Amino acid sequence: MDKPIPYGRQNITREDIDSVVQALQSDYLTQGPKIQEFEEKFAAYIGSKYAVAVANGTAALHLSTLSLDVQTGDKVITTPITFAASANCVRYCGGEVVFADIDPDTYLLDIRKVQKLLEQSPKGTFKGIIPVDFAGRSVDLEKFKKLADEYGLWIVEDACHAPGGFFIDSNGQEVFCGNGRFSDLSIFSFHPVKHIACGEGGMITTNNEVLYKRLLQLRTHGITKEEFNYENSIELAGGKQHYPNWYMEMQELGYNYRITDFQSALGLSQLQRADDGLKRRREIAENYFNSFKGKKYILGQSGIVKGHAYHLYILEVEDRLELYNYLREHRILAQIHYIPCHLMPYYQKKGWKVGDLPYAENYYKHCLSLPMFPSFTQDEQDFVIAKIIAFYER
Ligand SMILES: *Cc1c(COP(=O)(O)O)cnc(C)c1O
Repeated sequence: MDKPIPYGRQNITREDIDSVVQALQSDYLTQGPKIQEFEEKFAAYIGSKYAVAVANGTAALHLSTLSLDVQTGDKVITTPITFAASANCVRYCGGEVVFADIDPDTYLLDIRKVQKLLEQSPKGTFKGIIPVDFAGRSVDLEKFKKLADEYGLWIVEDACHAPGGFFIDSNGQEVFCGNGRFSDLSIFSFHPVKHIACGEGGMITTNNEVLYKRLLQLRTHGITKEEFNYENSIELAGGKQHYPNWYMEMQELGYNYRITDFQSALGLSQLQRADDGLKRRREIAENYFNSFKGKKYILGQSGIVKGHAYHLYILEVEDRLELYNYLREHRILAQIHYIPCHLMPYYQKKGWKVGDLPYAENYYKHCLSLPMFPSFTQDEQDFVIAKIIAFYER
């Protein structure tokens, strides 16, 4: 292989380029019609009522905790095996992150650990849960929702890894990640390694109209231009002219977390191929699974799970560091997802330490994310599989 093989990469077609160029030649670079079109088509794809496009997935998380009124000292539960932003969004609002351990079989936040935390604390201690559809495997949100309702908690689903993914609920129905049936808000990222690439970009989906309107306002400085919503008196708002065209109100402290029209144009174009990409990811996963099934040096793997969206394909292996280095020598850039969040120096300074979450820490000792992206060729995958087998069976 002449070019290094990354663990993930974007796929940009002629159509993608043409749609971005078209947006660049239009009247709007930002705050134009492509943003709303992207929101509507994304909501339709995911199956939610509303969608709010934002600058990136981290902004989507921040707007989520803001719109749910996370305050100083509020406790929120999440998984340690995720990108730091899933936890940081609680800190942005002054809240406290409580990590609960993962289920070693699914690598997802373990609902039994969450339940134990809730049972052991006085009611009202926790405000919300941020489960993550890690690697593209959907959390069973029906179960989380039941638990959350018992304790009066909200749920923000971090679905960055799982657009198009689903789980099967107790009625045998497919529940698509981000469709809002069992969560208050769900968030997505359009970073180039994710399923849909915008360069930078993010989305919040919800079925809750009140939260939807609040998110729109918070995304753009906390400003509203909707007359029915004004708080000031008519005198202040332009006197007898009754709210002239310049009039708007900044009603709360918001941010500029907008996405641009040309990024939305790219997202729209990518969205059209989302199902093809997902299908290809599932084929790649099946090849990996069948190639490594039963090998004694494979301690665990993502496996074949109905509804899995395979942002990542994970192996748990013996001699992980040696394998990682061996693959790099052969220009295969496998990656680690993730260093447990609670062991980041920032969270250690808040009191978290080695030994707190043994399943997450054990997972981290052995995990390796193999190349997984729709344009990954069969030849490339054969090469990767052959190298891994050669490493252990040489
Ligand atoms: C990528 C990612 C984010 C953050 O998204 P950005 O667009 O990079 O800000 C948050 N959570 C998870 C699980 C992610 O993978």
